[in-house]
Amino acid sequence: MKEALRQAKKAADIGETPVGAVIVRGAEIISRGYNRRETKKNALGHAEIIAINKACKKLGGWRLPKCDMYVTLEPCPMCAGAIINSRIENVFFGAFDKKSGCAGSAVDLFEHGLFNHNVNVSGGIMETECSQILSLFFKELRRKK
Ligand SMILES: [Zn+2]
Repeated sequence: MKEALRQAKKAADIGETPVGAVIVRGAEIISRGYNRRETKKNALGHAEIIAINKACKKLGGWRLPKCDMYVTLEPCPMCAGAIINSRIENVFFGAFDKKSGCAGSAVDLFEHGLFNHNVNVSGGIMETECSQILSLFFKELRRKK
């Protein structure tokens, strides 16, 4: 999660909402990603999607077996779908997203038995750090306006 936070900081440095994601397989880091929706001018530029994209390229397939994801914010519907479709096994997220979190906050797309692949999810990992970086970013953004 520390590495995911480092990724989130990279996003903040370029004026992007600070969300970072890391995909690991055992002790090995397979890929990293951070939110680049503004710089890429693309709605698909979420940290999780970027990390999944890189991991698929690296591992040479659409499935990411034995892979886990650490992400600083609860995944949105798009990313939850991508996580399920890439067969990631475990997701650990930091801050909860009451408005669009799809791991139980708004809806729970990871509910076991809902789809043909079950993902184990635990939230609130380093929650304070993960939500602080977001609230600081938005505070700064409002100050600049
Ligand atoms: Zn997302």
